[in-house]
Amino acid sequence: MIRSHRIRLNPTPEQANYFARAAGTRRFVFNWGLAEWKRQHEAGEKPSALALKKQFNAIKEEQFPWVYEVTKCAVEGAFIDLANAFKSFFEGRKAGRKVGFPKFKAKKRSREGFYVANDKFDVSGHWMKLPHIGLVNMTEKLRFHGKILSARFTEQAGWWFVSIAVEMPDPLCVQQPGRVGIDLGIYHLAALSDGSVLENQKPLRDLLHTVRRLNRSVSRKQKDSRNREKARLKLSRLHYRIACIREDYLHKVTTLLAEQYGFIGVESLNVKGMMKNRALAQALGDAAFGTFNRFLSTKVEARIGKVQAVGRFYPSSKTCSCCGQVKAELTLAEREFVCDTCGFTLDRDVNAAINILNEALRLSASSP
Ligand SMILES: [Zn+2]
Repeated sequence: MIRSHRIRLNPTPEQANYFARAAGTRRFVFNWGLAEWKRQHEAGEKPSALALKKQFNAIKEEQFPWVYEVTKCAVEGAFIDLANAFKSFFEGRKAGRKVGFPKFKAKKRSREGFYVANDKFDVSGHWMKLPHIGLVNMTEKLRFHGKILSARFTEQAGWWFVSIAVEMPDPLCVQQPGRVGIDLGIYHLAALSDGSVLENQKPLRDLLHTVRRLNRSVSRKQKDSRNREKARLKLSRLHYRIACIREDYLHKVTTLLAEQYGFIGVESLNVKGMMKNRALAQALGDAAFGTFNRFLSTKVEARIGKVQAVGRFYPSSKTCSCCGQVKAELTLAEREFVCDTCGFTLDRDVNAAINILNEALRLSASSP
C-alpha cells in the first residue's frame, strides 16, 4: 500500500529560489518535449518520451547548460510527465472519452513543481536533506514509516510543499460487518440509511463570504500591479485554508464510516449538484463530492471492504424505500418523502440513502 504525506516547507529564500528554478526547468523541458513531439509527429515519425529524453540529454550540455544548476530529476520528471500525459491522452481516446491533446505548461496556469527520486534525499525528523541546497525545514514530521519512494515538490498559495510517497505493508484487517447507504446532499453533507445525518460545517460557510469579498478586492485592483498580486496571494491562501478545513473534515467522516461499515453504497455522480448550479458554494460542494468518494473508497478498500457506486440514472430520491413505487415528481423544496401509494413518510435524504444501499446491494450481488 502506497501512502503520501504532503508537508509544508519552510525554505530559506535561497532554497525557495532553487525550488522555483527546478520547477522552471521541469516546465521548460516538458514544453521542449511536447514541441518536439508535435514536430516529429507532423514529419511522419513516431515520437516517444524515452527517445525524446535521449535526444534532449545529447544536446543539453551544449544548448541548455543551465539545467545542470538543479537536480537532474527535474529533467527526468519532465519526461515522465510527458509520457503520462500522452498515455492518458491515447487511452482516453481509445475508450471514447473526450480528452484534450497535452497542453504546454504556462507559468501562471499550471501548478509549479518537480519531483526528486528517493536516492537523492533523506528525511529525518523535521528536516529533509537535498543535494545542492542542504537541509530544508519541514513544518511536520513524516507521518508514515516504510520505504520512501519519491518526493514531489509543488507550489501553492505562495508556499512550497513536499509530498512524500511511502510504501507500507498492507494492514491485516477483518472486514466490518455493517452495511450502509450514503446520500450526499446540499442541505446536509450526507444522510445515512440508518437515519443519521452528517451536517455541513458552519465555519466553511462563513469563510465563503470572505472569499467573495476578496474576489471583489482582487478585481478592483489595477491589472499587473503589486497590490493586485498581494490581494491574489491573500485569496489563494484563503482558498488553501478552506481546502484544508474541508479535507480534514472529510477525512474524519470517511475514517469513521470505514471503521464501522464493510459495505457502503454511494452515488457515482453528483446529480443533484448538476441540477442546481449555485456558483461558488456549489463548486466547492462538487469538489467535496469527488473527494468524499475517493477518501471513502481508499479507506474501505484498505480494510477489505467494498464501496459500490450506484448509476447516475437511478432515481434514489423519487423511489419509495418501503414499497418501491417511483414518484413522477419530487421538487427540491419537499424535504419529506411521502409515498402516494403506501403512505410511507421519511426524511427525503434518508429515504434516498436507503434506496442507494438497496440498489448497491443488488448491483453487488449481480456482479461481485
Ligand atoms: Zn411506498
